[in-house]
Amino acid sequence: MDVLTFGETMVSLRSTGPLAQGGTLTMHAAGAESNVAVGLARLGHSVRWAGRLGRDPHGDFVERALRAEGVDLAVRRDGGRPTGVMFLERRTADLSRAYYYRSGSAGSGLSRADLERPLEDGAGILHLTGVTPALSAEALDAFVFAAETAAARGMVVSLDVNYRGKLWSREDARAALAPVARHAAVVIASDDELDLLSGRPGTGSVAGTAAELLGLGVRDVVVKLGARGADAYTADGTSHVDAVAVEAVDTVGAGDAFTAGYLSVLLEGGDVAARLRRGALLGAFAVSTAGDWEGLPRRDELGLLESLDAGGTD
Ligand code: ATP
Repeated sequence: MDVLTFGETMVSLRSTGPLAQGGTLTMHAAGAESNVAVGLARLGHSVRWAGRLGRDPHGDFVERALRAEGVDLAVRRDGGRPTGVMFLERRTADLSRAYYYRSGSAGSGLSRADLERPLEDGAGILHLTGVTPALSAEALDAFVFAAETAAARGMVVSLDVNYRGKLWSREDARAALAPVARHAAVVIASDDELDLLSGRPGTGSVAGTAAELLGLGVRDVVVKLGARGADAYTADGTSHVDAVAVEAVDTVGAGDAFTAGYLSVLLEGGDVAARLRRGALLGAFAVSTAGDWEGLPRRDELGLLESLDAGGTD
């Protein structure tokens, strides 16, 4: 297995306009980690997603969606708790608002017992996000256990901060995430999130926090900058990639797509510039298509946006 990841995947009900006006909603599978899993699977990598789903049609839907994308599943179906649900309200072209119904969900009951077997089976990379530890005390315990176990087993640990202000405070996020950063080989964050991994919060710049993390043993500190692209800080210095110029129609999922692209080239042994380039390319696919992951490219489609740049019509 190339990559193991775990977390909560929900049913996302997407509107095309203000929710208060009602209208048609479309049903999608949504979860930061499974978004990354789909992105990697489409590029031909072997990837396993572990998590819990309710024993309900929503859970069937999520399971079918991920299986159809070629993601290997280590799923426990929980008869006592429902699959989590969220509404994603397209309020304006640039602004989507999420409303979660995930408290007490099956996915938030994820525990270390769910991860023991997948971790034993191993993978080249364990990909974690900072969403999972926000879900429950059990999920926090599972998150820490997985990071420690994977690092001890020599797996590459990748951590995307993915701060969710609706789930917890920055103080709680920092207390949970900063101690785990030392197990990570790759950390990925937006520029306003990186500070959550610092043991000296509020004192440093992004570059200062990156240096602190490199000092702890992190090899790649990757900072996503939205339409401005991304930076990577490594022992060799700082690299930058510009975003790929596309028309943004739906920015949700850009970060997860970027991560899938970055990890894909890491698995292939490419250098940091190539990792950043494919990250930006997948981010551009995500923002220029509707859905969190539906528009992500298969390997033979990676050149599509480049041909658009060159004025192609294929
Ligand atoms: P989200 O939480 O919505 O998934 P994020 O904040 O984690 O997003 P961003 O920094 O917004 O992540 O986007 C990730 C990457 O996607 C960027 O580094 C960039 O390469 C690409 N990207 C984002 N927005 C645009 C855009 N408008 N046009 C082209 N590429 C973009």
